[in-house]
Amino acid sequence: MPSNLNKLCIHTITTRPWEIEQSSEAFSSSGIGGITVWRQALEGRNIVKTGDRLRNDGLEVVSLCRGGFFPATSASRRKLNIDDNLQALDEAAALGAPLIVLVCGADPDQPLATSRDQIRAGLEAIIPRAEELNIKLAIEPLHPMYAADRACVNTLAQANDLCDELGDGVGIALDVYHVWWDPDLARQIARAGRERLLAFHVCDWLVPTTDLLLDRGMMGDGVIDIPGIRGLVEATGYDGLIEVEIFSANNWWVRDPDEVLRTIVERASTAI
Ligand code: ZN
Repeated sequence: MPSNLNKLCIHTITTRPWEIEQSSEAFSSSGIGGITVWRQALEGRNIVKTGDRLRNDGLEVVSLCRGGFFPATSASRRKLNIDDNLQALDEAAALGAPLIVLVCGADPDQPLATSRDQIRAGLEAIIPRAEELNIKLAIEPLHPMYAADRACVNTLAQANDLCDELGDGVGIALDVYHVWWDPDLARQIARAGRERLLAFHVCDWLVPTTDLLLDRGMMGDGVIDIPGIRGLVEATGYDGLIEVEIFSANNWWVRDPDEVLRTIVERASTAI
C-alpha cells in the first residue's frame, strides 16, 4: 500500500514525551507532511510563533486537538465548557490550524439523552465563532465503551445525523480505533462524503486490549483493516492527511520517541 510520507501527519501526543519543537524537527526530517497539535503541547508558548515554527520546518498544521466535552449537570459548568471551546478556537486561529477535533463529552450523572442534547446545544453555541474565524469543527465519534463519561456520540451514523441537524460548519473526524467494529461503516462513510470527512486518524486495536484509553496499538499490530477503511475514505474523494494518533502508556510512550517515529515511517508502507 503506497503511503507517501508527505500525506502522513502525526499527533504531538504520539511522540510523548517530546516537546513540540523536538517533534516538529524530527517529523520534518523524516519526511512527514503534517502535525496535529494537542493543546497541552502549547502550554507556556507563544502560539503564533509556534505555528510559524512548525510551518518553517515544512509541516502542515492539520488540526488542534481538542475541544468538546460539552455536557455537565450544571448550567454554569456547561457555560465554562463552551468558554473553553471558544478559547480553543482562538488558539487554533493563532496557531493557524484550520480545524478543531471535538471529543463531545458525556456526564455519568445524567441520562445519555440529556448529554446528547447538551452536545447539540454546545455545538450550536460555538459554530458562529468558528465560522467567523474560518475554522472547521470535526465531531469525532468515540467507541461506545466511552459513552458513560467521555463522549456519547458513538457511531458514525450518529455523527452524520448531528451534522444533518447542524448544517455547514461541522464535519467529522473519523478515527479507525473508534469505528472499525461498526457493521454500518462503509455506508456511513459514503454518506459522510468528501465534504463532511475532515480528518482521518489511524492506530490499531490490540487483542487483548489492557486499558480502555491508553493501550492503542501501532498500525499493523492489531486487528483493524486500516487499508480497507482508508480505501473507503479515499473513495469519497478524501485527499487530506492520514493522522497517526497513539496513546500507549506502557509501550510506545516508554520507548525512545525516535524509535516510535521510525516504526511509524516503516508501517506507513506496510500497514496503512
Ligand atoms: Zn482520533
